[in-house]
Amino acid sequence: MDPREAHAALAARVDAFEAAARERGAEMRCGAGCDACCRVALSVCSLEAAPIREALDALPAARRRELAARAEDPAGRAGERCVMLEADGRCAVYAARPLVCRSQGLPLAYPPGVVPEQAVRAHLEGPAGEQELTWCPLNFVESPPAGEDVLDAGRLDEALATLQRAHVGPTGDPLARVSLRELAASTAPGA
Ligand code: SF4
Repeated sequence: MDPREAHAALAARVDAFEAAARERGAEMRCGAGCDACCRVALSVCSLEAAPIREALDALPAARRRELAARAEDPAGRAGERCVMLEADGRCAVYAARPLVCRSQGLPLAYPPGVVPEQAVRAHLEGPAGEQELTWCPLNFVESPPAGEDVLDAGRLDEALATLQRAHVGPTGDPLARVSLRELAASTAPGA
């Protein structure tokens, strides 16, 4: 499958996993207007940048100018808020947002050592060995997450890395990243 199509399918699977967790009643407070996980300056690989670029290109010229101007905002430069974060807490490129944004509300499992020590909230012993769990402190306040709601974020990262290598091919740099701020800056009409 084409890496772009495979990436879109992967994003759809993450969305479906999240929807199923919510359906089961997972205690997630994520919703429109909650921007707790958007107080960052993100960068993405070229595979994830492509749909975001297209989403930006599809916006009206005035909106693209606004976003390009926001790219110069010192708060965005300092990583205090994502350049795509709107004043009402929504995401300017929601449908094209990166996998990390799609998965943030879920409990996430990583191999030991990936999650900063202070963010590790539980440990999990599974067929793949020990994993460390992290989740947004606004979620799962009443009780810890059920195992079936835990997303294997380590495997998700590996899947993305595999697709990214196929996307750039043997001559490109699979590790090259572009910041969302750069993407926003380059969306200005005539840029
Ligand atoms: S891309 Fe959208 S969802 Fe992701 S951090 Fe930025 S504003 Fe939030």
